[in-house]
Amino acid sequence: MIQYLEQDEWRIVEKEFDPARHQASESIFSLGNGLMGQRANFEEQYTGPMLRGSYIAGVYYPDKTRVGWWKNGYPEYFAKVLNSPNWIGVDLLIKGEKLDLYTARTDSFERVLDMRRGVLSRTFTATLPNQCTVQVTTERFLSMHRPETGVVRVTLTPVNFSGPVAFVPYIDGDVKNEDANYDEQFWNILHTEAADYESTLLSQTKKLDFRVAFAMKVAITGNVSSVESSRTDKWCGNTLSLNASEGESLTLTKYVGVCSSLNHLPDQLITNAQNEADRSAQAGFDMLLAEHEQHWTDIWHHSDIKIEGDAAAQQGIRFNIFHLNQTYTGKDERLNIGPKGFTGEKYGGSTYWDTEAYCIPFFLATAPPQVTRNLLLYRYKHLPKAIENAQKLGFTDGAALYPMVTMNGEESHNEWEITFQEIHRNGAIAFAIHNYLRHTDDYQYLDEYGLEVLIAIARFWSQRATYSQVKKQFVILGVTGPNEYENNINNNWYTNKIAVWCLNFALSSIQKVKKRNPGQFEKVIKKTGLDLKVETILWKSIADNMYFPFEKKQNVFLQQEGYMDKEQIMADELSPAIRPINQHWSWDRILRSCFIKQADTLQGIYLFEETFDTETIRRNFNFYEPRTVHESSLSPCVHNILAARIGEVEKAYELYLRTSRLDLDDYNLEVHEGLHITSMAGTWMSIVEGFGGKRVFDDGKLRLAPVIPLRWKSYSFRILFKGVYLEINVNRKEVIIKPKNNRGISLIIYDKKYNLTGGKSLTVPLIMTATL
Ligand code: BGC
Repeated sequence: MIQYLEQDEWRIVEKEFDPARHQASESIFSLGNGLMGQRANFEEQYTGPMLRGSYIAGVYYPDKTRVGWWKNGYPEYFAKVLNSPNWIGVDLLIKGEKLDLYTARTDSFERVLDMRRGVLSRTFTATLPNQCTVQVTTERFLSMHRPETGVVRVTLTPVNFSGPVAFVPYIDGDVKNEDANYDEQFWNILHTEAADYESTLLSQTKKLDFRVAFAMKVAITGNVSSVESSRTDKWCGNTLSLNASEGESLTLTKYVGVCSSLNHLPDQLITNAQNEADRSAQAGFDMLLAEHEQHWTDIWHHSDIKIEGDAAAQQGIRFNIFHLNQTYTGKDERLNIGPKGFTGEKYGGSTYWDTEAYCIPFFLATAPPQVTRNLLLYRYKHLPKAIENAQKLGFTDGAALYPMVTMNGEESHNEWEITFQEIHRNGAIAFAIHNYLRHTDDYQYLDEYGLEVLIAIARFWSQRATYSQVKKQFVILGVTGPNEYENNINNNWYTNKIAVWCLNFALSSIQKVKKRNPGQFEKVIKKTGLDLKVETILWKSIADNMYFPFEKKQNVFLQQEGYMDKEQIMADELSPAIRPINQHWSWDRILRSCFIKQADTLQGIYLFEETFDTETIRRNFNFYEPRTVHESSLSPCVHNILAARIGEVEKAYELYLRTSRLDLDDYNLEVHEGLHITSMAGTWMSIVEGFGGKRVFDDGKLRLAPVIPLRWKSYSFRILFKGVYLEINVNRKEVIIKPKNNRGISLIIYDKKYNLTGGKSLTVPLIMTATL
């Protein structure tokens, strides 16, 4: 754990420049606006260690898989979000010498990410090897209001000299991905042009023909003595020279339009990017910033969480909410949320089950339903590919297996166990539909899209389950559960549980759509060719007769068959020197140990909590928590929620701390690779579902059962539920529910029903040991 950032409620602040922390800060201070995003690379030249990263949502590269021993069914490529042309660059020449914080002496330095406004800034004073001292301020934002616009402002003030300086704003297409399998460059640069105060570059991916145009327009204060425009095959920019006077500030503003072939016709890309840059330059920095800030004000209005009495936790949760909103804005159903968002290359920027299992609960409660609907539509549109994916593995008749890792619906990962065996992801995709319906009542979605997906998923489970003549029950063999420290296991309790749930949910959804919308129902039956008699009878018999491993002595659900044969050691018996085990032990040793990477059986209990009594939850929690090493960032939040549920509030708090500042304090010493964007939603879940006890069960009612950790004086969160915005304040004595609009709502607080009408608030005493 490394704590080098100041604690501040709304800002992330770094007070000193340390090249050794630079790559970590590049991740932490990243910016995004849903359509594009980038690491906090410096605008001016930096020759020290860094990870250049600028990404365009939905633009990816199918990098050829690199595996030692090819097996049938392996995905042909590993999809990668691309490091795209660098459009933020503004080099600074001071009396002919390039400013570079790696070689200059930094006399003062402050880097700030203002989360309330979505602005990244830096102010520093540096002395170059030529002994010129300059003060520099940079500001940057990616407009939330005009997502194809990015703005950079650089102000330069000579401190101890007067003389020639130059600003060199540019666009550079000579970029690489650090994780390229064969060290190739992924872009062709088709066109560069430069004229006074403007430049344009058009790039094309070497495969799949994605094209992105970048156009910049610059404005500068001060008397420019010369403008030189230059271009090479991959670079274009201007050199704006001025005679600077000591103490006089010069400001350059760079407006950049970024247009991709996802949203524009290829032959219009250049013009549209140039028009975008022109429009932004005409609007000017202040107006663009004001629009952008207003957007953030609206986001915070719906999603802010306040914590009184714990500045570190306050900063931590806002940091997480901020990054989630920067990564996904829900406007385009072709886009999704990579585990690292726009902050790094790891995980290839692809979509995992993280979206459905973690991000959707966050977006459902903090953003208009359309945002989640688009995440569901993303999977709906990928259904034909999921059917193809299942076919490749030998499934038939419209069975769908969604990929574990994807950009366009195709499986694009190259690890055998994970790709092929983590079939539980199909369940998360079905569960997300259920979650959406019970939060929004948008059953039209089920009629028009959801049912088709559920039928294809049910078909998969019915073919994937095997009837065991020995057990006289259905079994599911050869899987990996959410706990990736077990591969190729039989009867993973979680997988069997979610499979049964999917089959039952498909069956009940068929009945629902048939009743609600017979015309549409007929269409779906025709399209899917569902045999209502044969197929549904099979589904029911599998659902009713599935085998679930159980440990009688401990009276707990068993993670998988044979789990108790393992040597039972508790995680706290492991020396800290060998943790995380995945960095110290061989894979062989990990696989035969009892250690659990992340919530697995408890993930199932979390999803279907309403079907278990408190004692059952407690027994299972007490059994699994000590065996869990939480080596996935997705894990502590689920344990936190269940700990709070069984009244172990301080245990829940301990688990919360592991997630809340995971990246800010670099717990795993890996933040330089990027941020854990999807697990940030888990941190939000820890507060709202863990401490706040927010639930929506199958009866479609909102439930709350807040508790409060000892350390906190109070906390509040905002949620949206069926069109009603609520603010829930919890202090050490009471819970206050304030509707933020006038729509009435009936909800259950600590098991008691209340009706809120006409925007009136409700106050109830806090019950620390309440159950739902
Ligand atoms: C976790 C998976 C997760 C993936 C991407 C892995 O470490 O075990 O559950 O989907 O990371 O976040």
